Amino acid sequence: MTHGKVRYKDYSPTANDSNATSLPLYTIGIAAKLTNTSVHTLRMYEDKGLILPHKTRTNRRVYSQTDIERILCIRKHIVEDGLNIAGIKAILAMVPCWEFRPCSQECRESCDAYTSISKPCWSASNKGKECQNIDCRTCDVYLLANKCSDIKALYKELMNKKD
Ligand code: SF4
Repeated sequence: MTHGKVRYKDYSPTANDSNATSLPLYTIGIAAKLTNTSVHTLRMYEDKGLILPHKTRTNRRVYSQTDIERILCIRKHIVEDGLNIAGIKAILAMVPCWEFRPCSQECRESCDAYTSISKPCWSASNKGKECQNIDCRTCDVYLLANKCSDIKALYKELMNKKD
């Protein structure tokens, strides 16, 4: 590895990588510098379920340009909009993901994202079967938080995509 960039042989590509902005490029240290945060802060965002970084085969975190933009949006919500991490997490946890994924009533009842608002759906411990084998990083519900719009604008955009 040089200058904080990750060698591609360290990484197993997913379908999401067809988009250049989602290529895993930056180590956690470089991502912290690019977003004017710290390694500790980025780990905390991950622990709180705000972001899902790529992981290498050796379990190192790697961030894409899209991830950098997501972190900058989280920062904006904290610094400019007066939200704290718990507030952002609560907003994301309230997104009705079942409206945007094929999800039967039976599937919903077995899914923590439907029965609880404690975590965003992508970090739920028990997901319904329709979400169990999906890469959440490619899902419209997860990608909502990559934009700095207010939550109503985000819902409208998602609803328009659904129609
Ligand atoms: S695929 Fe992941 S992000 Fe999308 S609705 Fe299911 S759990 Fe949420």
